Amino acid sequence: MKSVTPIVFVFHWRVWFTAAAGIHTQSQAVGSQNSHELSELLSNNASIVLPSDPTWDNIVARGSYPRIAPGYQLAVEVATEADVATIVTYANDHDIDFLAVAGGHGETTTLNRLQDGIQINLRKLNSVTVNDDDTVTVGGGTLQQELVNQLYEHGKRAVTGLCECVSVIGPLLGSGHSFLQSQHGFSVDNIVSANIVLANGTTTSASATTNPDLFWALRGAGQNFGIVTSFTLKTYPITSTYSTYTFTFSRSQIDAVFSLVNEIDSPPSARDPKFFLNAWLIRPSADDDPIFSYSLAYEGSTYDLAIRAAPFLALNPITTALVTNITYKEIHQALGFGAEIFACGKNMNQAISGVGLPRWNIPALHSTYELFCSLTADSRFANSAVLLENYGIVGVLGVDAKSTAVPPEERERPILTSAVIHYEGDEQRTRREAAEWLGRLTDALYEGVEEDRHAYVNYANGNESVEEMYGREEWRVEKLRGLKAEWDPRNKFRFYNPIV
Ligand SMILES: Cc1cc2nc3c(=O)[nH]c(=O)nc-3n(C[C@H](O)[C@H](O)[C@H](O)COP(=O)(O)OP(=O)(O)OC[C@H]3O[C@@H](n4cnc5c(N)ncnc54)[C@H](O)[C@@H]3O)c2cc1C
Repeated sequence: MKSVTPIVFVFHWRVWFTAAAGIHTQSQAVGSQNSHELSELLSNNASIVLPSDPTWDNIVARGSYPRIAPGYQLAVEVATEADVATIVTYANDHDIDFLAVAGGHGETTTLNRLQDGIQINLRKLNSVTVNDDDTVTVGGGTLQQELVNQLYEHGKRAVTGLCECVSVIGPLLGSGHSFLQSQHGFSVDNIVSANIVLANGTTTSASATTNPDLFWALRGAGQNFGIVTSFTLKTYPITSTYSTYTFTFSRSQIDAVFSLVNEIDSPPSARDPKFFLNAWLIRPSADDDPIFSYSLAYEGSTYDLAIRAAPFLALNPITTALVTNITYKEIHQALGFGAEIFACGKNMNQAISGVGLPRWNIPALHSTYELFCSLTADSRFANSAVLLENYGIVGVLGVDAKSTAVPPEERERPILTSAVIHYEGDEQRTRREAAEWLGRLTDALYEGVEEDRHAYVNYANGNESVEEMYGREEWRVEKLRGLKAEWDPRNKFRFYNPIV
């Protein structure tokens, strides 16, 4: 049982001080009262943070704040699974909403629907236990960089996302796009089991044999079903280093570059699973035209990369950079996904939308380029970019699409692209214009695409339909809704691209 004395003191002092200062709102009073009661129920290492605490700004900071700003009366840094269950039970008893936070990079506008809730901060559930059977057990608040680094010490790796700053669980619950997906499937295809706190505050586990329906739903629509306190993933031995080529191309090279990429991915299952492609459209400075920064990586010999890079070199890139002997631990950083990159920062109003495409449509890329020129000519949006991800899909196609809640659209489309809008401050007009730009660029990227729209749930902006994110097969959405009614009948988990 947590010692209550210091908390009681802090509570009284804070109430006195804020009341005396005349700024003691009703919400703060309720938050303080709840904090006092909760403190007696939590484990010794849990900590409660209130809006008046000096660490408050830090705990509510997120990648896309203040554009994305869930409202909290208090936050709890939980230290045990039991703490999570205690908070959920307490919140239910007091009719308070709650939201789990791991990496804090969720950026869908639906998160703003939470008001006056409790933040369940999972960062103290940050653990990595390497098991003997080629699996690793990971705490629900662990970041990708932490898992990559600790597994590397054992000569192993797991299928995680690209950016080091994001949690392991966040991408995974919505599928988890990865460098390794073409070899081993999505992150979520590699989950063996999970421990979960359910909407009613009870704890359970899910795997292929225990609560298999819940396990199905967790894998693709996980944020709707519970709080994962720990989970076990398959691991794979690290057998080789990487080499990378990074090229830059101008607008005049759009046709040649993206026709080449379409050819490489024709059909997408033909691409060597160890060959990775990714690009960004960026504007280096106000005086420069936007350029495409195109990265190729190969897990294996530099010779193998050189063969695959030759057609790109033949297009006469503006710049070329080759780096060899990159370890798995370094590859995320080497390809521009390290923890220090711009997109990993906090409080930057990042806004994206997930555009899944079967192939590049060249006229659409020209339209996108035009719009991007106008967007970044406005100094408020100059640091924006367009993400042009081109994943290998051999591994994800190797998994039966019916076996998880990840929709087939996610498995079948090798391209995941989006405008990534950044701006500073919280000016309403800028926020509205940013949303308009995102909408226009999303429409441009879909231009000429015959297939129905599909948005990756973890890149969704918040205005997409359920079918657009979770799949257009009727049985699939019906099944998700049925499982939702069974496992979360009061719809407590409804703040992240909700099913209902
Ligand atoms: C810089 C950057 C890089 C990215 N890279 C990739 C990538 O390589 N691959 C990819 O697939 N996606 C990627 N994404 C998208 C990413 O999957 C989502 O933004 C994801 O929601 C972030 O998870 P988080 O834990 O960091 O954020 P949070 O905001 O903490 O969580 C996001 C949602 O998940 C819920 N949640 C968090 N922890 C848990 C838990 N333990 N149990 C249940 N629910 C939980 C939260 O309540 C919230 O609703 C990236 C996003 C950014 C901003």
